[in-house]
Amino acid sequence: MIPYGRQEIGEHDVQAVLDILRSDWLTQGPAIERFEQGVARYCGVRHAVAVSSGTAALHLACLATGLQAGDSLWTSPNTFVASANCGRYCGAAVDFVDIDPGDWNLSPELLEAKLAQAALRGALPKVLVPVHFAGLSCDMARIGELARRYGISVIEDACHSSGAEHRGAKVGACAHSDMTVFSFHPVKLITTGEGGMVLTNREDLYRRLLRLRSHGITRDPGEMADPSHGPWYYQQVELGFNYRMTDIQAALGASQLERLDEFVARRNQLADRYDAALAGLPLQLPSRPRTAGERSACHLYVVKLDAEKTAKKRKLVFEALRAAGIQANVHYIPVHTQPYYRKLGFREGDFPNAERYYEGAITLPLYPRLTEKEQDFVVAALKDALR
Ligand SMILES: *Cc1c(COP(=O)(O)O)cnc(C)c1O
Repeated sequence: MIPYGRQEIGEHDVQAVLDILRSDWLTQGPAIERFEQGVARYCGVRHAVAVSSGTAALHLACLATGLQAGDSLWTSPNTFVASANCGRYCGAAVDFVDIDPGDWNLSPELLEAKLAQAALRGALPKVLVPVHFAGLSCDMARIGELARRYGISVIEDACHSSGAEHRGAKVGACAHSDMTVFSFHPVKLITTGEGGMVLTNREDLYRRLLRLRSHGITRDPGEMADPSHGPWYYQQVELGFNYRMTDIQAALGASQLERLDEFVARRNQLADRYDAALAGLPLQLPSRPRTAGERSACHLYVVKLDAEKTAKKRKLVFEALRAAGIQANVHYIPVHTQPYYRKLGFREGDFPNAERYYEGAITLPLYPRLTEKEQDFVVAALKDALR
């Protein structure tokens, strides 16, 4: 079986984890800060807070904006359910902005129109979660400008795009957002097993995220409601969680970070090969930026069957790939069509671009260790299936 994605673990990673197991700290020790500072330096952002998963990172980022019942959060329907669920965790309503059929990211045009309508009704969202689908950044200058105009907090869901670049900066620099969230699940760009991170340039959000990660507890007398009793003293000043990352995970993450650029370069190289081999087939290929200062992390390589050029159905093509030993995948089933969201009032037809995209989408294998021979085999199997 050729999987659609898999982690890349080297001896350096194994040694980094073993070193922690023999050290004094297994959790919340020096490896956490080392990993946080490494990612912050890499992205060119002031603060980073490591947490137990990308989902936990999204939840804490939403809480840090003050999102609560009575508010609403908007995101893309073409994403993993966690991008929307984080709003529900805070008791907020969730709504979606349809995608652009060209690059499959949340459409800035549709966002602008929906915001103008919502402003008239006094129903603006408090939080917007743009998702950099498949590793390609959304147009953040445009989205950031709209968010400022309407006073909305922006949390970039960059779970697909560690190592990507946008307008000459690393995704994660938060030039046009309040916070950016990464995931370190094994299929993502670098891994800690499970893990995530929130990045921000804002000191106030950083302080809040640190507290929320650990039960809402502070040891800083400046944040306490009353004078400290002494050096042992701490106070719980709000309701937080145990969303901490272990030092074992952080050491793995810091070791992986050293190879992030190499991984992303290899993914781009393989994506170039797919682009060349699949040109001319009845497929829409991923949007790949060619300008300086733009780089997709190529987390996923998605092809969409072009319904006008082929009568082949996605299910048949998908099954043919699986029969050939290729574990293709589909990203994503539009979130609003999930039964949980249907129960909240969403219906098929609400976000037609995401639904049409879903009908034709297939994710092909792409990961650093995929060989060119394996890739040629995938291409041949796909060509066969389309014949
Ligand atoms: C993976 C992913 C998440 C969730 O990350 P976890 O670390 O698995 O909790 C959220 N959003 C997107 C777009 C993802 O791909």
